[in-house]
Amino acid sequence: MDHQELTTYFRSLDRSFFVGDDMKQYAGLDRPLPIGYDQTISQPSLVLEMTKLLEPEKDSKTLEIGTGSGFQTALLAKMSMEVYTVERIGELMKKAKERLNALNFSNIFYKTGDGSTGWQEHAPYDRIMVTAAAGSLPDELVEQLAIGGRMVIPVGPPHLQELKLVTKTDNGDINIRTVELVRFVELKGQYGWNNKK
Ligand code: SAM
Repeated sequence: MDHQELTTYFRSLDRSFFVGDDMKQYAGLDRPLPIGYDQTISQPSLVLEMTKLLEPEKDSKTLEIGTGSGFQTALLAKMSMEVYTVERIGELMKKAKERLNALNFSNIFYKTGDGSTGWQEHAPYDRIMVTAAAGSLPDELVEQLAIGGRMVIPVGPPHLQELKLVTKTDNGDINIRTVELVRFVELKGQYGWNNKK
């Protein structure tokens, strides 16, 4: 991954474009902000850090679970060949898609539904980014990770989680490294936190 290209694009992205009118004045702060429907956009420094950890490459097929505002999706789409993004809340997905279309991305594929089960149809994925907290590592996502692939996912209870870097080695073994403590909204759905829909 070209870190310079990522940083330059990150700096050029106007976060106020990705939040509602009432939050635009706060968009420059390094803080999570509400995006409606009890969901949040993460603080920009964490979005950048997680993208660096994922290390998307120009030939990567990337799966993102939790489109939210579309801010993280834009970074992933800039650094990957294709991004498959899944969001369970239709209204958030509609707005995110409008924003990303306005930015002229043509390598993003959208699905509204439960992303805790991944997106089997297009698997395997070289990279998987999960931006909501799972109670445990969803088997389906591990299965959909390609050999040599990387997944970044917060795992743990609702108020504090461990950010995990999951890698699949050439012989299919799974390595899991805990990177730091984070706080994300819950991943819902079949393999989500407490199986909450
Ligand atoms: N990365 C996003 C951004 O840049 O704006 C923020 C994501 S927000 C912290 C988490 C998102 O995950 C929410 O939009 C939420 O609706 C979504 N989500 C939670 N459970 C989900 C599931 N099972 N499938 C798909 N999306 C889910």
